[in-house]
Amino acid sequence: MRFDVVTLFPEMFAAVSEHGITRRARELGLWTMATWSPRDFTSDRHRTVDDRPFGGGPGMVLMAEPLAAAVSAAGAAQRWAGHATGTVVALSASGRRLTDARVRQWAKECGALTLVCGRYEGIDQRFLDALVDEEVSIGDFVLSGGEIAAMAVIDAVVRQLPGALKIESSAEESFATGLLDAPHFTRPERWRERPVPAALLSGHHAQIDRWRREQALAKTARERPDLIASARAAGRLDERDEKFLRDCAQGTGGTVPPALGNPSSAAAKTADNAA
Ligand code: SAH
Repeated sequence: MRFDVVTLFPEMFAAVSEHGITRRARELGLWTMATWSPRDFTSDRHRTVDDRPFGGGPGMVLMAEPLAAAVSAAGAAQRWAGHATGTVVALSASGRRLTDARVRQWAKECGALTLVCGRYEGIDQRFLDALVDEEVSIGDFVLSGGEIAAMAVIDAVVRQLPGALKIESSAEESFATGLLDAPHFTRPERWRERPVPAALLSGHHAQIDRWRREQALAKTARERPDLIASARAAGRLDERDEKFLRDCAQGTGGTVPPALGNPSSAAAKTADNAA
């Protein structure tokens, strides 16, 4: 897969190309990246990429033409490398919220993706209308630039590419099953008076799977009831799951360990911090 990133700060992208799983995947040849600075597509002496907003107001707006020239250079490079011209995505706080489903679809279907990073107050709307296929937000908050959002997209897409993860664990991660991930534990078996849940030490695979399923159900019901509703609508909850959720709602779901049963236990956290 190939990413072309239009950005005023290309050096930031070493964070994904040079570290961790994404670095390894790049070294395995699973993805490549090229960056395009709109500054290199300006024609004035000061290499101006932004200007004041029409209608007044604070801040500056990225001008359409340098971005357009950068996107078309990226498209040409994609075709030169044998790809179809990639989908053009602009990172934007007012875009459509990114989902696991969209990430997986890009990983599966897109040979190339062009990511356009805004800065300042944002991007001239005419560029978005003329050249951008979709605007994507990574959450309901405002970043100072699209770079961190673009890196989030690259990281999330790359780990879905076949061979990127050493163990193919992504099928069990949060969202993949329609539920949030179950909690994880490692050694020591007892840490600051907190034991590992007994079910995980049982060595009994069916029991462990059931425990994880119930933890995922309980956590999802607590943090993201909307996901429970979608899982139910998609027919992903069986009768046992439904019974467990009913028991939870009545306060009799017996398997949530105390340390997890009350995540906002401020007193417990304070005690830990003092320790
Ligand atoms: N005036 C804009 C914010 C501009 S922030 C507004 O109120 O919506 C500058 C740039 O950061 C944006 O152009 C966009 O590229 C990026 N950005 C900010 N928040 C983002 C988010 N939640 N998701 C994706 N990109 C974001």
